[in-house]
Amino acid sequence: MDSFPPLLDERGPLAFTFTNDGRILPLGEVKCDRLRDSIKTAMSGADYKQGNQLLGRAMGRVLAHELYHMLGQSKGQAKAGVARESLSARQLIADKLDFPNHDFAFIQANGLKSL
Ligand SMILES: [Zn+2]
Repeated sequence: MDSFPPLLDERGPLAFTFTNDGRILPLGEVKCDRLRDSIKTAMSGADYKQGNQLLGRAMGRVLAHELYHMLGQSKGQAKAGVARESLSARQLIADKLDFPNHDFAFIQANGLKSL
């Protein structure tokens, strides 16, 4: 198996989706320790009281990014929202991060038929 350029934060990869012979597989890997370390760089005092919630939010966003690739059968990256090439630690834990309608439409048009 191979992987294509992973989801990055400011310091490196957070997750991968695997490929085989150019086909995107429904398999991936999340670097949970890296993700935890990443979000800590954006957390301040009050954030630590809800640290587990913020880690869960960040994991959900990383998974959504990888599912974008898997369901859309796309190695491309979006220009905005959760499917962009990289997400900062602040974006991973922010109260809101968009999943633009055109990205959802892309998955519907390109990916679900391949499942
Ligand atoms: Zn990606």
